[in-house]
This record gives sequence, C-alpha cells and structure tokens, in this order.
Amino acid sequence: MTLVPVCSFCGHKQKEVKRLILGPTGNICDSCVQVCQGIMAEGDAAEAPVKSEPLPDFSTLPKPAELYAFLNQYVIGQDKAKRVLSVAAYNHYKRLYAPSDAAFSDVELQKSNILLVGPTGSGKTLLAQSLARRLNVPFTIADATTLTESGYVGEDVESMLFRLYQVAGQDIEKAQRGIVFIDEIDKISRKSENASITRDVSGEGVQQALLKMLEGTHVNVPARGGRKNPQQEFMTIDTSQILFIVGGAFHGIEDIVRHRLDSKTFGFLGEEEKKHVVANVDPYAEIQAEDLQKFGLIPELIGRLPVIAPLEALDEAALVQILTVPKNALVKQYQKLMAIDGVMVTFELEALLLVAKIAAAKKMGARALRSILESLMLGPMFDAPAASVKEIVINRASVNAYMQDHLSYGQRELVLRK
Ligand code: ADP
Repeated sequence: MTLVPVCSFCGHKQKEVKRLILGPTGNICDSCVQVCQGIMAEGDAAEAPVKSEPLPDFSTLPKPAELYAFLNQYVIGQDKAKRVLSVAAYNHYKRLYAPSDAAFSDVELQKSNILLVGPTGSGKTLLAQSLARRLNVPFTIADATTLTESGYVGEDVESMLFRLYQVAGQDIEKAQRGIVFIDEIDKISRKSENASITRDVSGEGVQQALLKMLEGTHVNVPARGGRKNPQQEFMTIDTSQILFIVGGAFHGIEDIVRHRLDSKTFGFLGEEEKKHVVANVDPYAEIQAEDLQKFGLIPELIGRLPVIAPLEALDEAALVQILTVPKNALVKQYQKLMAIDGVMVTFELEALLLVAKIAAAKKMGARALRSILESLMLGPMFDAPAASVKEIVINRASVNAYMQDHLSYGQRELVLRK
C-alpha cells in the first residue's frame, strides 16, 4: 500500500492543495508556506531597529525668547531660571543642529549641563519637562537618591537611559538628543568636604557614575530593559549629546554662601555695613562652584554643571496664581472635569487664598496644592454627576471644613495666624 503524502502542518492531502513540497521527514503545502512567511515578516518587523528620525533643521530650533515665552505659559515666577534655562537649552541644541560648515568650524563647542537650585515644589521638574516638550525631545526623570553605581541594588543609570530610549520610541539617535532631569542631587553629597578625614564617601560613587554620564560616555544598556545578565543583548547609548538638567534644594547652602560673602566679597566694608549687605542678598542667587564643593559635590561634577539657575520659594500670592493662571492650572482642570457633567464650578478668591496659606504651611511648595484641591473636590465630584446640581461654589467655608477634617488644631492655628 502506498501512503498518500499530506502536509505535515495542516494535514491536507496532495490533491487538496495547489502544491505540496515533499521533504525527507515532512511536507509543507503552499498555504502553510504563506502562513509561515507572514509569521517571519512579523518577527522581522518586531526585531528591526526603528528608523531614526532625521536631525531637525537648525532653522526649526526655537530661539531663547520663544522657549521663555513657552515656559511662561506653564511656570509661574522663576524668571531668572526661565531665562537661564532658555539660553542654555538653545545653546545646547544649537551645538547639535548647527550646520557643519558654520563659522569657527574648528572650534569645538563643549556641552554645558544645567543645575537648578531651589526648594521642593518650586517648579524644577516642571521647568525641565516643559522645556523638553517645547523642544520636542524625549525626556525622563530620575532621582539621584535611588541611582546607584552600576551593579548595586537600586535603579542604575542603565535603566534610566533605557527609559529615555523607550520615550524616544526606541529610536536610539533621538534618545541620544534627549533631556534627562536628575532630582535631589544634593542628597548624594559627601558629608564632608574632606572625605579622607571622615572616610565618608557614601555619595561619592554615585557622583562619579553621574560625572561619567554628564561628561559623555558609552553606556551598555540591556536592549529589553531590566537587569543586566550575560545572555541579554545590549545596545550602546552615547550620552555625550544628552542634556542633563540636575536639581536639588541644597538646604543649608545659604549659610555657606553667606559665610563666603561675609569673609571674602565684602571685606572692604565696615562690620555693620557688611552685616547689612550680607543679610539682604538672596544667597541662592549668589551660589558659586566653591559653595557647592563645600556642600559636598565633587569638583569634577561641579565642573560639568557650569550653568546654575536659582529658583525662589513660592509665596502665597504665587501659589494662588499657580492655582489659576497656567494653561493647565488646577482650578481650570477641575472646572473642565465638572463641566463634562454639565456642572459649573466657581472657586472664590478667599477660598483660594486660604488653600495657598495651607499649602505654604506644609512647606512643600506647590506640591501640596493638588492634594488639597482633590480633597476639597471629592464631595462635589461624588455627588454632582448623579444629582441635578448645576453649579458648585467652593468658598472659604468649604476650605474651613477641609481644615477641620485634615489638620490638627495646632496646624489650623498656624495657618489662620499667618
Ligand atoms: P520641584 O521639582 O521643584 O520639586 P515640581 O516641578 O515637581 O517641583 O512641582 C510640583 C508641582 O507643583 C508641579 O507639577 C506643578 O503643578 C506645580 N508647580 C511647582 N512650581 C510651579 C511654578 N513655579 N509654576 C506653576 N506650577 C508649579
């Protein structure tokens, strides 16, 4: 008896298919070949590197004034930081996008990363993020306190760069032109200017790892993210064109700055005059490299952060503005949310002033605003969609009720006394 050959994949007999290819240990029909081709093509597409976006044309690069105007739409106050950032970012991308035959072609422009110094919740992250949005470059945030030297527990620099690569739509070239914001750089300072005395080098290893990245290095990043393991494929990310913006509050640096000013800068003044001048300067606006070194940053890292932009603590008036003025201000966001249900929400100025007072007392800058408003709006957001309410007014009484529920007696006294 002769066996009728069949397709080893679908089981169809020879006469049921157009063609059957016979092999020594198995056969395949024309339709199964087609299915296999489809599977192969899908696999290739998944594996293929993403086609890189071409380098933007220099003429499309927003000028410093345009960057500044964009930042103004989202960030309240912080004028100096906005100007410094706009110029520094423009210079950075000018360096990348400028035509190769530009003037002084033999002069190499060095990269200048940026240091933002200002209290928590004053807008450091928001500035960096808004800048990246306007420049249309990938952006990621990392926290210096969770960064570790490669190979240790915690988030290493590789995973940070992998995130940037993902945000860039897996386009390495684009990722290499992105912006990385590293917050809390002040928390990895070594505890003494002279490490050899205290042997306290806790933050120094991380500072060294950061230094390499800021200078520009090639980092091997696992192509599929996660921890490094020998079986994994790697890709190499060159950090030399990435703009690093680092931020920190640098609590205590005021005293270092004042001390320096006191002893050096105003040496020619009489004691009384000197006291008066030193007491009236804004120490954050006067920060210099030597102050950062005294604070505990290693000199090489400071050298890679030549642009220092100071941010001010936000006062109550600024907090009220933050609630109402920016393009996506919190008040506007809640009004929009409720308007979808056909409900109009009004926030009385008195209520907003009290919200700002509470936020200021929490000493978290603008960060506290969102959670206060979320609590204030919880009741209305719960009730309004079901009831036939058409209008809600958030007034001082609403905020007082919030204070009763969320603040201790002492905290309430503190807010009301201000
Ligand atoms: P930082 O990085 O300085 O700690 P963030 O930028 O993370 O502060 O600010 C936290 C939130 O507070 C932001 O998402 C933003 O909504 C708001 N915010 C902070 N500062 C400002 C500002 N100057 N203008 C507008 N909103 C601000």
